[in-house]
Amino acid sequence: MSKLFGTNGIRGVVNEDMSSELALGIGKAWGTMLRSTIQRPKVAIGTDARLSNAMLKTAISSGLLATGCDVTDVGLVPTPTLQYTVREQHYDSGVIITASHNPPQFNGIKGVAEDGTEFAKDVEDTIENIYFKKAYKLPDWKNVGALTTWDGAIDLYINGILKCVDIAAIKKQKFHIVLDCGNGAGCLVTPTLCKKLGVAFTPLFCEPDGTFPGRNSEPIAENLSAVMKAVPEHDADFGIAQDGDADRAIFIDEKGTFVLGDKSLALSVRYLTKQRRGCVAVTPVTTSNCFEDVVKENGGKVIYTAVGSPIVARRMIETDAIFGGEGNGGLIFPKMQYCRDSAMALAMFLEILAKEKQSLSMLVAAIPHYEILTSKMACPNDLKQKVMDTIVQRVKGSNDVTGVDRTDGVKLLVRDGWVLMRPSGTEPIFRVYVQAKTKTAGEQLASQYKGLVETVIHDLS
Ligand code: MG
Repeated sequence: MSKLFGTNGIRGVVNEDMSSELALGIGKAWGTMLRSTIQRPKVAIGTDARLSNAMLKTAISSGLLATGCDVTDVGLVPTPTLQYTVREQHYDSGVIITASHNPPQFNGIKGVAEDGTEFAKDVEDTIENIYFKKAYKLPDWKNVGALTTWDGAIDLYINGILKCVDIAAIKKQKFHIVLDCGNGAGCLVTPTLCKKLGVAFTPLFCEPDGTFPGRNSEPIAENLSAVMKAVPEHDADFGIAQDGDADRAIFIDEKGTFVLGDKSLALSVRYLTKQRRGCVAVTPVTTSNCFEDVVKENGGKVIYTAVGSPIVARRMIETDAIFGGEGNGGLIFPKMQYCRDSAMALAMFLEILAKEKQSLSMLVAAIPHYEILTSKMACPNDLKQKVMDTIVQRVKGSNDVTGVDRTDGVKLLVRDGWVLMRPSGTEPIFRVYVQAKTKTAGEQLASQYKGLVETVIHDLS
């Protein structure tokens, strides 16, 4: 198991676990890996708006240059902008310095493959192996890499989005939105995109600032009170909030109500599967059944994966899916690229509203509703696998359980819902997700199955 790379790259507190020495070593390991198959690799590097970006960017660039890679610095950009640049400009790899939605003292390093997707686990493991063994391969003095800068990434990306949506239909509606960039990298892109689409916007926290003075960077309801208040106040059509590196987007309807991430996924996939019936959509096992309901309505099929946007994206490529994503605001539109992309999500929502001629709250209300309850419980790491296997054995033959899915953790299909018990990859806990038709039914299911897990943990301890 990876020691450094988590679900979304390497993350840590700056000058504690996220140091310049670490970044330099990772740069050398990364370059060594690339040079094992490519004579002279080309790597693009970008950052979000954090204060420690220059420190980490220069350190990792130095490592890449030392191993004989050419590095192009594309500056302060959203993660999806860097991903799009890597694919479109034919880089062999991409590095984004970001800690996404984490607090300002954090920073991180995330890898992008040549096709613009986030690094797969095995690539991260290879880099880690080289790093821990210090098995760096350095060329002689004549063959170290060259460093250049390029300021075309943002234009390239915005033009890419404009090619994917019906600009005329959007412009005709004369939309007005509230745009909450959360002082993140989205500030560099989303306001310009709005102007190009003829969308008026009320800006909130649209100046990049690595101390995140406006709000906490994670786009969850408790951090978004300002945009939720501003939308009805300004009589806006809707609001959008981005996270620190602008890969995730959360929407607020015209009444100021937070639209759950699962509903945004369902809304997008319903629109897209209506246009191409019978196609495939991909989402992790944690997503509410509202997604599958609307896909089936249009004769399509849902493929479920383990949690993690790189896993979803790669499955989408394999299955030629029309759409995919995660319920935390990670929407993936293959028409643009195979990664979470908040600005593309905004453009697509504008098109959906323009074409469906309904308000966002009406569109959301038409999507089936399920209650999803989440909680967590302690479990020692070395017991996790045994606990899951034992749960599967104990529910065998039970009348309540109609199916068991082992895609990620243990998902028990029960009458009118499901229960998912997923071990955390980093902490000694299980996350427990319950889906039910009503909150009361959900609470009942949660307590019943948490009781079962507790008993199993107790019996195995
Ligand atoms: Mg993010």
